[in-house]
Amino acid sequence: RAKRMHGCSFSIYEQSKDRTPSYQGLLEADIWTALKKEQFQLYYQPRIDLLSGDIVGAEALIRWNHPEHGLIMPNDFIPVSEHTGQIIPLGFWAIWQTGRDLKQIKNAGFSLAKVGVNLSFRQFQDDHLVQTIHRIIESEEIDTRIFEFELTESALFSDDQHVQKCIEQLSKIGIDFSLDDFGTGYSSFSLLQKLPISSLKIDRSFVAQLPDSHDDTEIIRAIITLAHNLKMRVIAEGVETKAQLDFLIKNKCDQVQGYFFSPPVPLSEFMKMLKAD
Ligand code: C2E
Ligand code: MG
Ligand code: MG
Ligand code: MG
Repeated sequence: RAKRMHGCSFSIYEQSKDRTPSYQGLLEADIWTALKKEQFQLYYQPRIDLLSGDIVGAEALIRWNHPEHGLIMPNDFIPVSEHTGQIIPLGFWAIWQTGRDLKQIKNAGFSLAKVGVNLSFRQFQDDHLVQTIHRIIESEEIDTRIFEFELTESALFSDDQHVQKCIEQLSKIGIDFSLDDFGTGYSSFSLLQKLPISSLKIDRSFVAQLPDSHDDTEIIRAIITLAHNLKMRVIAEGVETKAQLDFLIKNKCDQVQGYFFSPPVPLSEFMKMLKAD
């Protein structure tokens, strides 16, 4: 699964193994239309710095405003689109839109340190990925240091030369990378060393049972120590309670995201939070 897949060798009929084949089939056909009709929207979830308590960034998360099905969440269409390859145009849209939104944020007088954009492993199959990202940055006049691409460990698992080259090229122009859902995948320590990864995002499954679960508290402490020893930042995902937050502050986690502060919200609402912060 993590091996690089070539071209469009995937049949859309493979989807029939899924739980709700007709619904997924429908969504699959609809993604093209939805892109044309501008039914996708980015929501932003604030990232809070635990030293200052300020909003220092956000993660851009895609939503689909479907005319019949209402608001569709990414887990209902991102995996399908990764399978069919539609994640490539969809992912480009998300990068472009983040660029446009960042410009709007800047024009309103706010400055953010980092905005995370999720990048699927399949997006690396497009030979124009690096070039397109360059173009977006130029046309929207974005400070490259703001962009942070969030990779899941599956993107790196294959030890793919092409993926590593893309990451290095983007890193050279100042773009940051983070490892998303850290702890749930298969990344090796050597890969962490080899790639220019600047932060680890602790998967929310480890945060959920804090501070009561002995195993989870130890795992989180170990991830924080590892990250700091490798000069990386640590961001905890899915912080929902004060007790979780207190544990993370005490153990020197750098930043958090989670419902305790805010769920992902539309850009206009996110900008209101920046104003109030
Ligand atoms: P992710 O990148 O790990 O994003 C974090 C997910 O956790 C988001 O789900 C977010 O809404 C949710 N979350 C944040 N705080 C909390 C909390 O306190 N409690 C709980 N229970 N959940 C929380 P969402 O928005 O449904 O996105 C799901 C996944 O879809 C993302 O996981 C990411 O892998 C993927 N995705 C979203 N947008 C994009 C995109 O533009 N491109 C790509 N390639 N993937 C995307
Ligand atoms: Mg993410
Ligand atoms: Mg995550
Ligand atoms: Mg995830």
